[in-house]
Amino acid sequence: MNTVATDRDFTMVRSSQVHGRGVFAKKTIPKGTRIFEYAGERVLKVNLAKDLADGLTSLVYVMNLNEILAIDGERGGNDSRYINHSCDPNCEVLYFNEKPYIYAIQEIAEGNELNFDYKYGSEADVEITQEQKREWFPCNCGAPNCRGTLLDN
Ligand SMILES: [Zn+2]
Repeated sequence: MNTVATDRDFTMVRSSQVHGRGVFAKKTIPKGTRIFEYAGERVLKVNLAKDLADGLTSLVYVMNLNEILAIDGERGGNDSRYINHSCDPNCEVLYFNEKPYIYAIQEIAEGNELNFDYKYGSEADVEITQEQKREWFPCNCGAPNCRGTLLDN
């Protein structure tokens, strides 16, 4: 577990035009680079509402892991939690041994912001319209192909 220094060599966190803080390339990141793990505590999804009420999490940095568990980057996470969403991303998340890693899917030039497609699924059984998706989960990534929502479709 001594990869932290190496991992952080690629990136820095600073304020973003897109949203809050973002993660930026400190030097050119070659295509295919595994940049870092999306680190954080493994938490039971059934407990998340209670965890929010108890002030343990804001839910902002929760990534889905499987049907039972999620990863909360707010608890024990690293800089990867600050990566913003884009509908036209330069990174993707790949899972190995139940761990999500952020990979560069194209070369990322020094100074450019890293992003990946959150693809939040609408896990609720209720059907919501495209208009509601855009209103409730708006995307402001600015990509020409922006679908207007953080949700999957
Ligand atoms: Zn977008």
